[in-house]
Amino acid sequence: MSALPLHLLSDNARVEADGSLSVGGCRVDEIAAEFGTPVFLYDEAHLRARCQEAVAAFGHQKVVYATKAFLCKAMAKLAYDEGLLLDVASGGELAVALAAGVPANACTLHGNNKSVTELREAITAGVRHVIVDSFDELDRLDALWAHGLRHANGGAPKVVLRITPGVSAHTHEFIATGQDDSKFGFNLRNGDAIKAVDRARRSDSVDLVGVHCHIGSNVFEASSFAKAAEVMADFAVPLDLPELVLGGGLGVAYVEGEEAPNIAQWGNVLLDACDALGVRSKVSVEPGRAIVASAAMTVYTVGTVKRIPGVRTFVSVDGGMSDNPRPVLYGSGYESFLPRAASAPRDLTARLVGKHCESGDVLSFEAKLPADIAVGDLLATPVTGAYGHSMGSNYNKITRPPVVFAADGNARLVVRRETYDDLLRTDLG
Ligand SMILES: *Cc1c(COP(=O)(O)O)cnc(C)c1O
Repeated sequence: MSALPLHLLSDNARVEADGSLSVGGCRVDEIAAEFGTPVFLYDEAHLRARCQEAVAAFGHQKVVYATKAFLCKAMAKLAYDEGLLLDVASGGELAVALAAGVPANACTLHGNNKSVTELREAITAGVRHVIVDSFDELDRLDALWAHGLRHANGGAPKVVLRITPGVSAHTHEFIATGQDDSKFGFNLRNGDAIKAVDRARRSDSVDLVGVHCHIGSNVFEASSFAKAAEVMADFAVPLDLPELVLGGGLGVAYVEGEEAPNIAQWGNVLLDACDALGVRSKVSVEPGRAIVASAAMTVYTVGTVKRIPGVRTFVSVDGGMSDNPRPVLYGSGYESFLPRAASAPRDLTARLVGKHCESGDVLSFEAKLPADIAVGDLLATPVTGAYGHSMGSNYNKITRPPVVFAADGNARLVVRRETYDDLLRTDLG
């Protein structure tokens, strides 16, 4: 059966003469030996290349990296150094960005239920925009203003209103956000959107600078993006505001046979739609997954191979739903391979599972693997750079894996593995 499609690996992954894999000039087996497993291994030049592609497609200061896809200080700094702004969706994400040295005025604050504390901290710090999601949030901003809160620039915070354009993206229902039945944003169709614009325009507590939409995540169809851009352009042009933010959501290929538009194609679709409708605002986007997903693989060690004749074979690795909850959440698929024989035929079909106390702890329901897989082998799943580390947990008190950035033959530990002390740090007994 088929070998791993190598295009799913990051830009600087290479199959060496002995059949083993290297990333960024570092052998995967040596990374595993040095840092242990599981480990998130990022191809740093791949991350930079995707940032550069996005800036080339949309322009400087028009790409806002959605940090929830993958955030640590090294990533925040990398994105900022490559000319991206940062989208943060909580006080915690803002704290990490600021700790990385990213200035507050390069950060935009998102969230459908921002607390008063999050709003106060972000505005005091001087975030670039607050993306307002509800009338209740406008009430909170009024109250903060009345209590004397001022933006770091001395005035009212600049705000962008999140609009629900009524466009259904073709993706999993848990990550579709643009349809009318959504917890996010001001509904366009029922008139809430224009009410919010009128209120924000009249308000002293906010400085309305634009409108925003985000139709969902892991969207493969260029037509969904074009449709949302058209609906938003129609709404935005008569408002004549300086900013139009078209969100993120560009999908990536996770498994054999999937194909997504690249960042340049996505840019063409969105910007052509805006041009056609006469948008004069600054158009910006917020990609997360498309920047980071295919930059990383997770490297595990195989602990058990359980063959149950007539039933199935279970291959169990030393991580699972705590480092990659996506298969459990969305039934997402992943490929898997052995870094010692990256392009070997994969004749065994097995269920790839983790080490958690749940039968649902699955990484790949129908994994293709080389038939000579053995206990002790390293096993890798590509395209785990987005919503893996960031959605991880400590379920079963598993310590979270480290993050390594590899480039030019150097492997840099940017997040260390958690220890048992970390697990007990907040436990007061
Ligand atoms: C999650 C999110 C993004 C990024 O989505 P991706 O699918 O990772 O590109 C962008 N904007 C908003 C408002 C989001 O919630």
